[in-house]
Amino acid sequence: MCGVIGVIGPRDILPELCTGLFNLQHRGQDAAGIATFDGGTFHMHKDEGMVDDVLEAVARRGRLFGGRWGIGQVRYPTVGCGGAEDAQPFNLHSPYGIALAHNGNLTNFEPLKRELREADRRYVGSSCDAEVILHVFAEEMSRRPAEPFPDAVFESVAAVFRRCRGSYSVVAGVAGRGLVAFRDPFGIKPLVYGERTAPGDAFPTRMFVSESCALTASEFKVVRDVGAGEAILVHPDGRLEARQVAPANHHPCIFEFIYFARPDSRIDDISVYKARLRLGEELAREFKARHPAAEVDVVVPVPDSSRPAAQEMAFRMKRKFREGLLKNRYVGRTFIMPGQEARSKSVRRKLSPVPIELEGKRVLLVDDSIVRGTTSRQIVQMVRDNGAKEVHLASSCPPLRHPCVYGIDMQTKKDFIAARSDEEGTRREIGADTLTYQTMEGMVRAVKEGNASIKRFCMACMDGDYPTGDVDASVLDRIAGERERDAGAPPGARGAGGVEV
Ligand code: SF4
Repeated sequence: MCGVIGVIGPRDILPELCTGLFNLQHRGQDAAGIATFDGGTFHMHKDEGMVDDVLEAVARRGRLFGGRWGIGQVRYPTVGCGGAEDAQPFNLHSPYGIALAHNGNLTNFEPLKRELREADRRYVGSSCDAEVILHVFAEEMSRRPAEPFPDAVFESVAAVFRRCRGSYSVVAGVAGRGLVAFRDPFGIKPLVYGERTAPGDAFPTRMFVSESCALTASEFKVVRDVGAGEAILVHPDGRLEARQVAPANHHPCIFEFIYFARPDSRIDDISVYKARLRLGEELAREFKARHPAAEVDVVVPVPDSSRPAAQEMAFRMKRKFREGLLKNRYVGRTFIMPGQEARSKSVRRKLSPVPIELEGKRVLLVDDSIVRGTTSRQIVQMVRDNGAKEVHLASSCPPLRHPCVYGIDMQTKKDFIAARSDEEGTRREIGADTLTYQTMEGMVRAVKEGNASIKRFCMACMDGDYPTGDVDASVLDRIAGERERDAGAPPGARGAGGVEV
């Protein structure tokens, strides 16, 4: 998971670009970068670290350069790797001068890298798949006449869709020609479009971004989502052209609604907050059906993603909702941190119990998901150590059993407690009195209610059905091997498999 942003307007867009990127920080804390074009020159600032650190370091050394368009990205890495050289955006000076950033993960990264080298005589210097997408786009642009320019762009994006497999939501700037945004035909990763017209502006400033929270932060109006298989071109003079360049086979990532996205965002016209409330409603029903004899005094969220679901559970069960665990906001999200050791330490540093809300109580803990089980075990133990009589655990998400190959750092099957244990074994390993998972049907009902026109979601990490159709056991084995090998590699030394973005 990562976050991307692209902004184009009649004035310097640097303030909107930086504000937008700050509001995507929750999507990646490992590296950040921006590229801007001031009419004559590209300016690129990128490095490892939080958005604040990266931009402030540049500002201290000189100044941040803006322009009429800019793109940005926040990244979180795969296991153990992802150095500064893999930070996005990437740019090429020919043809035109193109800068590009994306959110997603290519499933054919290695074959494509080889094809670029052997057939197109293009060298990919990093192990980041954004650079591969950039080379494919640039190669296709260079094969086409420059005019009419929109045709060159849309035909090149269509070619990217034919050559690049996996998930990718892309923002790209073309020197002197404008900004392009596109979303792969499966629309797995989000990309939303908004605009704002300031007094005196001849045309609106337009923003394409992973989540709508970044639009509202700069008082942009949310216009609509970029469609699966759609490309949008905004010219420097403000003209906007949108084209469906490949048939849509829309499968948005359902895990965005459960865990990743900020609750104040709308994705594919579904309020993330409302989806989480409905997940809590479904989970309350499931808990009562599965454990009719269980008594609960308080419902306690594991902060922060599960809070709306826990509030709704408490409301539906007519029980008290209490903040029995407090989060230290200055420690990164555990799931997002690379490496198990970092994750374990981070749990203890991240969460503090509120003993008065736990002591002598039968506690129903609500978490967004259970991945490896190590975090859940530590939290259940922490609640017991602070005097809880019973600890019940409910998960907003059904059991996670399969690797995500589309951009989430849970790549190997053995990572999942639900893949190696049945439900009772998982409960015992975690140490809870009862364990309740969301059902698949309940999850889909809860999320889909926000937008009935979405026919299917990507739920591959739960049901093993990968929508892109190119992921079989051999691909998963190859990726698992690569992840294990890369886990021991120094930063920047990773090879095949694509970089987690
Ligand atoms: S496999 Fe899971 S986490 Fe990955 S894109 Fe699909 S639903 Fe999202």
